[in-house]
Amino acid sequence: MTEKTDVAVIGASPAGLMAARYAVLGGADVVIYEKKEEIGVPCHPANSVYRGMMSANGEKIDRSYVRHCIDGMKLVSPAGRTITVETPGYALDKEKFDKFYAEKAEKAGVRIECGYDVCNLSSYFGENVLNVKKTTAAPDEAPQKVKADIVIIADGIFSQTAVSAGLRTMKHPEDVAWGTELEIEAPGIGEEKFAEYYVGSHAPGWKSTYLPMGKDRAAVGVYVRRHGKDISGFLDPWVDRICEMKDIDRSEMKIVSAKSGGDPIITIPDQICKSGIMVVGGAAGQSGIGYAMQAGKIAGETAAQAVSKGDFSKRMLSQYVYKWKDALWTEHIFGRIGLEALRKMDDEEIDELFEVFEDEDVSSKIHGNTFGQGLSVMALMMKKKPSAILKAGALFRNR
Ligand SMILES: Cc1cc2nc3c(=O)[nH]c(=O)nc-3n(C[C@H](O)[C@H](O)[C@H](O)COP(=O)(O)OP(=O)(O)OC[C@H]3O[C@@H](n4cnc5c(N)ncnc54)[C@H](O)[C@@H]3O)c2cc1C
Repeated sequence: MTEKTDVAVIGASPAGLMAARYAVLGGADVVIYEKKEEIGVPCHPANSVYRGMMSANGEKIDRSYVRHCIDGMKLVSPAGRTITVETPGYALDKEKFDKFYAEKAEKAGVRIECGYDVCNLSSYFGENVLNVKKTTAAPDEAPQKVKADIVIIADGIFSQTAVSAGLRTMKHPEDVAWGTELEIEAPGIGEEKFAEYYVGSHAPGWKSTYLPMGKDRAAVGVYVRRHGKDISGFLDPWVDRICEMKDIDRSEMKIVSAKSGGDPIITIPDQICKSGIMVVGGAAGQSGIGYAMQAGKIAGETAAQAVSKGDFSKRMLSQYVYKWKDALWTEHIFGRIGLEALRKMDDEEIDELFEVFEDEDVSSKIHGNTFGQGLSVMALMMKKKPSAILKAGALFRNR
């Protein structure tokens, strides 16, 4: 028998859970299919959020999933120049975070089906049919068919369902960053109050990281673009450097877990909507838990409106794209320009740029919306070191 629902969400991800919750709150009948047997298990490598982004989504931080509170982040240049940004943040227990949001969605009325893999999505003449199979089913068992007026694809960076729906969701898929996060254990390593992000040729195209997770635990990670998926050649030296900087004997350091994945940090969303379908989160090239949740919320609200009007056309669902662009497009474009310039600069140039902001109270000087922040950055550069602006010319290098 074919099941029928107003809205089917693929993936109980941060984006999918928000989308489902807002669709149900708007009056739609919503089901999520999640291929993991248990929400949050195995755990996704993402391990931190900042309060600002969560508040922008109308979400309060809940102590139940917080492992350690931090006061902000330090951005560090190759020569060690440091920019400090004070902004409250949290090291997460990601399994508990996912479970918290799943429970919130269920309480609102969402039905979550765990252990169900959406193996195909066909979408013709405005009719969506999902082929859904229990992950424990025998290989020859026929998939169950589910019809949905609207499908919200939230199945992460490797989304196969967006491909089956014929959508090219990212403008620059070649720019997915490949990242690995190690959780390490060493005496006192997790007690600091700032996350640290290091940029330069040791992590081409993006960053290496240190995140205190409380007491004797911390996470160290490396994210690299355009160097293939195997980034172990960058990770090993980074762990050595962390041990040196934090005064740890490497032989006494224990690696508790290692998790890898693709981060669509500056891939820029492209085709994320068609008749009856919206794509959100990593699957749509929207990176970061906060951004994924914000996109999910907008898509969920749009789905509820579409259901109440009985209009599932591309025109109707494009409200999601317009509202998302209104809120976040400039930020994504500025992010891409910044990270592309960084990828093309050499270490000396990055150091020169950091000199402008070092010792500045960045949190109070750079404010407003993204455009305003861009102008504040330019004004600071003009005042302190006009030649630094020329470094932005790196963006136009053919590298
Ligand atoms: C190593 C690494 C570290 C990161 N760290 C951070 C961080 O600290 N903070 C931050 O904000 N961002 C971080 N990110 C980025 C962040 O993880 C993503 O932006 C965020 O997880 C986006 O989530 P999502 O909602 O798109 O989907 P995901 O979290 O990727 O979830 C997708 C879900 O869909 C399910 N699924 C997939 N296929 C199917 C299917 N066919 N049928 C049913 N279910 C399916 C999966 O099981 C999964 O539960 C990190 C990324 C990486 C790779």
